Amino acid sequence: MKKDLRILFQALLLCGLLGTLFFISRRNRLVVENSGFRPIMGTLAQITAISDDPACAHRCIELALDAIEMIQQTMNDRDENSELSKLNATAFEQEVKVSPELFTVLQAAKEYSILSGGAFDVTIGPEVQLWRTMQQTGTPPTSEQIEQARFRVGYEKMILNPETQTVQFELAGMRLDLGGIAKGYAIDLAIEAMKQNGAMGGMVDIGGDIRCFGHSPTRGNNWLIGLQNPRKEKLITKLKLTDYAVATSGDYRRFIEINGKKQGHILNPATADSAEELISISIVAPTAMQADALATAVAVMGRQRGLDLIESLDGIEAFVITAKNPSELLRSSGASFYQLP
Ligand code: ADP
Ligand code: MG
Repeated sequence: MKKDLRILFQALLLCGLLGTLFFISRRNRLVVENSGFRPIMGTLAQITAISDDPACAHRCIELALDAIEMIQQTMNDRDENSELSKLNATAFEQEVKVSPELFTVLQAAKEYSILSGGAFDVTIGPEVQLWRTMQQTGTPPTSEQIEQARFRVGYEKMILNPETQTVQFELAGMRLDLGGIAKGYAIDLAIEAMKQNGAMGGMVDIGGDIRCFGHSPTRGNNWLIGLQNPRKEKLITKLKLTDYAVATSGDYRRFIEINGKKQGHILNPATADSAEELISISIVAPTAMQADALATAVAVMGRQRGLDLIESLDGIEAFVITAKNPSELLRSSGASFYQLP
């Protein structure tokens, strides 16, 4: 090798080495910023952002929280000033133009209603109101009240027009309730905000519904997530997720007891009764909105129909626990792929 060439070669080698060292030192200086628990959407949220720049990690957490706050303000049906409440109050009399976020969720909700044969249904509002009254008074609704509520429930009576981004109800007294899907959507928006603003990795957890992406604090791109057994102080399993989401529905956090019978907050739209065959349903899916809506759907569909639905969907898996004593843990056929050995 000629002398000049050798010098060039050595210079290139040095550059390569320095580049590698720079990359390693950057990696070693990754910052893990955590929001701590924040009360929002009727539960607690926790956000983690990973970056090599502390200011970026901090900004990503703030932007993720802003996204969740925005969804809470838009979709909370208990707040009469929310966009959802205003829609509920006026959409029978006239077509109502809604925000792109609300329209996106309503369109997705309709798709999950069709997919689940009506087990998931955001027009469940009138039945949820009966459940809430029962929660306050301790008295179950009369069969006439149940009939009236059931009559007003039905996703096909919610008319969505994608061109005008408008919503209209076919019947007076209809009421949308996004409790089974809005949390998932908020998580997806929060993740999007972090990605767009430069986070190298992150996790958003709202009340146990979780999505993660990119670098994890410990294990490359694998985020470790424990699934809690609702009846015991131990974990069902540990999941390892990479750019994925998991959501859990069940009767263990929100329920009331009437005449000694537990009544969970997930209702079968066809009967207005609480879904009771499964006590815990965790769905693993690419987005948190899919996981959230499907967890609610499977809760209503029960073990057979619910697991059949999950088997029919690509990239989506389920872990469910049956209510019968002794309870069983059932998994869809590809679920073990996401479990830590
Ligand atoms: P959690 O809020 O505990 O995560 P879910 O995601 O399953 O549980 O949401 C339950 C909420 O969804 C209920 O509180 C109610 O607001 C609403 N809901 C109840 N039953 C249904 C249903 N069949 N379809 C759609 N939403 C429902
Ligand atoms: Mg849900």
